[in-house]
Amino acid sequence: MIGKVLLSATAWAAFASASAQKAPDVSIGLKRDAALSAALADVSPARIRQTDSTLVSFGTRNTMSDTASESRGIGAARRYLYRELRAYSRECSGCLRVEYDPAMIVNARHPQRVTMNVVNVLAWLPGRDTTRVIVMGGHYDSCVCRTSTNDSTSTAPGADDDGSGTSAVMELARVMSKRYPKGLDATIVFALYAAEEQGTLGSAHLAQRLKDAGLTIVAGMTDDIVGNVVAENGKTDSTSVRVYAVDSVPSLSGELARYVWGLGQVYLPKFEVRPTFRLDRLGRGGDHGPFQRIGAPALRFTERLENYKRQHLPTDEFKFVNFGYAANIARLNLATVAALAAAPAPPDSARQRRDTLSGGQDWDLTWPAVPGAASYEVLVRSTAQPTYVRVISVTGTSFLLDEELDDAIAAVRSVGPTGARSLTRVFQQPARRPAGATPPPAR
Ligand SMILES: [Zn+2]
Repeated sequence: MIGKVLLSATAWAAFASASAQKAPDVSIGLKRDAALSAALADVSPARIRQTDSTLVSFGTRNTMSDTASESRGIGAARRYLYRELRAYSRECSGCLRVEYDPAMIVNARHPQRVTMNVVNVLAWLPGRDTTRVIVMGGHYDSCVCRTSTNDSTSTAPGADDDGSGTSAVMELARVMSKRYPKGLDATIVFALYAAEEQGTLGSAHLAQRLKDAGLTIVAGMTDDIVGNVVAENGKTDSTSVRVYAVDSVPSLSGELARYVWGLGQVYLPKFEVRPTFRLDRLGRGGDHGPFQRIGAPALRFTERLENYKRQHLPTDEFKFVNFGYAANIARLNLATVAALAAAPAPPDSARQRRDTLSGGQDWDLTWPAVPGAASYEVLVRSTAQPTYVRVISVTGTSFLLDEELDDAIAAVRSVGPTGARSLTRVFQQPARRPAGATPPPAR
């Protein structure tokens, strides 16, 4: 009898090859936008290459390196980034607000716990709503951390870590300022961080600054090491990218990863997005971490194959970076940032209640109205499915779902007048009673 339920080896091989030909639909109902598609074509590998080449030419970009020289050290590097961003802004009639974002921060990884001047370089593309911000960053500092995080003089090219991510974010700032000089709905911050290598100090400073200003962080994302395609063992992968995000309710980080996964399928179907529902690679960290810690949706884009024989060493050289690959990651970044920025906010909250009238077979879903939303969509997946498989269009702010949520997860998102979709907000069960209230008598 077992033979009847198991596929024969031949049948299995045929099934497996048929499955391999067709990627599963992970697009979760996200739609292609013509203006965004056109913008993707502007992303230039040659430009990314040029920026990375200039960054590497500064010898070291250690956060404690020389700041006076015009040719070596982190000071020269940040003045170069600032000048480039100002030049992009001139091309769009001043659409970018470019600034140095300095902070005096103690370096806890230094034996004398010295205080460092940590200077991020930021370019803001204001949207219609200046209270909602999308942060797309990369760190421009480098190190030879294998010998010492605090070695401020040895050559630390950091071509991949993270010259590649910095250069991709710079290209994003150039293309988006050209294509969207009037901004979109949400505000975008292109962030080049310092002191990532001393413990994500620059990004932690920015995340806190945005929070203290009372801004809503739509997403805090980083491009960190996005240019290596050949592993030490000879394996090659130039057609997939890893995205890391924690998947826990009520954090929207996992929802952000599903959004990126869906957009990848819509805009870059030949480039595979590989979501991992973890904060980062094992034992590693990055500039999305501080955003996760303050409760904002956070995500890291990173190459599929790393080379630990070059990272944080003088051998992290320009010649090993593949700029065609980095450009594809920049295109995925662009699709994500532009789609999110074009969309209204997601509903602030989303409540699910068992519908007793149906005997519990249906569920009652409600959410508050969102300014700027033309309609909403309810999405459903089983708890065992990694992403949503059902999308239902809704015009009001409530919906009776014909599925048992004991076995599934439902979420809601806003749809703007142009069809732009927000992140999804997962429905949650209202508390059974207020905290501290006397429990009802036992029956
Ligand atoms: Zn890095």
